Amino acid sequence: MQRLAAIKGMNDILPPDSACWEWLEAVVRSLMQRYAYRAIRTPIVESTALFVRGLGEVTDIVEKEMYSFEDRLNGEQLTLRPEATAGVVRAAVEHSLLHDGGKRLYYMGPMFRHERPQRGRYRQFHQIGVEALGFAGAELDAEVILLAHALWAELGLAHVRLELNSLGQPEERKAHRAALIAYFEQHKDLLDEDARRRLYSNPLRILDTKNPVMQAMVEAAPQLMDYLGDASRGHLQAVQRILDAAGVAWRINPRLVRGMDYYNLTVFEFVTDQLGSQGTICGGGRYDYLIGQMGGKAAPAVGWALGVERVLELLKEQELAVPAVVPDAYAVVPDAHALPVAMATLQQLRAQGIAVQMHSAAGSAQGMGSMKAQFKKADASGARYALVFGVDELQAGMVSVKPLRDAGEQVQRPLTEAALWAASLQSAR
Ligand code: ATP
Ligand code: MG
Repeated sequence: MQRLAAIKGMNDILPPDSACWEWLEAVVRSLMQRYAYRAIRTPIVESTALFVRGLGEVTDIVEKEMYSFEDRLNGEQLTLRPEATAGVVRAAVEHSLLHDGGKRLYYMGPMFRHERPQRGRYRQFHQIGVEALGFAGAELDAEVILLAHALWAELGLAHVRLELNSLGQPEERKAHRAALIAYFEQHKDLLDEDARRRLYSNPLRILDTKNPVMQAMVEAAPQLMDYLGDASRGHLQAVQRILDAAGVAWRINPRLVRGMDYYNLTVFEFVTDQLGSQGTICGGGRYDYLIGQMGGKAAPAVGWALGVERVLELLKEQELAVPAVVPDAYAVVPDAHALPVAMATLQQLRAQGIAVQMHSAAGSAQGMGSMKAQFKKADASGARYALVFGVDELQAGMVSVKPLRDAGEQVQRPLTEAALWAASLQSAR
């Protein structure tokens, strides 16, 4: 029989690693709540046209990274979402979310791109993102940047720098585009296949190349910043002033153009040097034309997405401790006859918010295993207390509570009044 295995580039997230994911998600939820961003969940499968129209035909994602397929039953062209902004905008338009003003939204979930799997680059990966829809002001660009900055701080991450650029407005890009094409034509010998193909269809994309051979040439290309008018420059400066006041350092990266076509004005990335070539942990920007392009009433927007795997890898790289998940107590049950009473008591404790891990004998229905083996498991669980449901205790209507981590006394507690002593088991969490 063929060995069954996960698809290449798509990973299982197993304990204890899954605890890091849940911790990160909890920090994010708490932060989103403080910034008044509300959750949105959109489908993982969308029609292919949504991404072609939303992200732009001449982009890495649409040209070569999408998992697209035909619905076998009705022939519809479908795609596993490679990113979430297009879906969020579709949902906002479909449900008239902006009818009573702007909306601040966030999401978390899996995305799919057919890339060469390597550290920090997977085929199923996870993003957390925010979208502030319906707001034109630079303060919203700053707000989403400050939110991301606060997240790094709460996670304890260091050495993450903010790079900013402005893509201006479409009419400003036209003049730059002509200059860019002229420049690239002069350096045609250095252009790789992708770049040659995009020379006339999407020359800005060439600036986003990862090809080392092209770096120096691209570095010296005409800069969009030099083609921006006062309004675009003013918008960027307004963002910078807010960041400065909040003590958030930034630097301009004139080559920062992002991978999708929908951006205008502010674009930004949070970058680290500690993850090799997959150093961008978060990217975003303003996309004032996408909502209109998706058939909605024109409305401005700004957002970002971070790569969960890259953030977690950076946490690991910086050896930051993620709070361990351990039960408060471990139930030791010397004799299987005590199971009904023990489990009824545990049920009460858990209803009081106590985390209790029940002992169970591995792979056998006979007996619970020796006390020694059970205490060994109790110790390994990390629990602060063992609850011992011994025969003598049960006859007295009691359970023994034995401290496992510190020197305290073993005490007995009444089985029927678990609610009264449950709180004494609570570890400082
Ligand atoms: P890259 O330049 O590294 O390919 P990107 O510009 O394609 O990134 P975005 O589309 O902006 O990435 O997605 C936002 C974030 O999602 C990235 O900054 C990164 O952290 C993460 N990300 C993107 N693609 C992947 C992937 N294949 N595997 C893991 N994380 C990813
Ligand atoms: Mg990419």
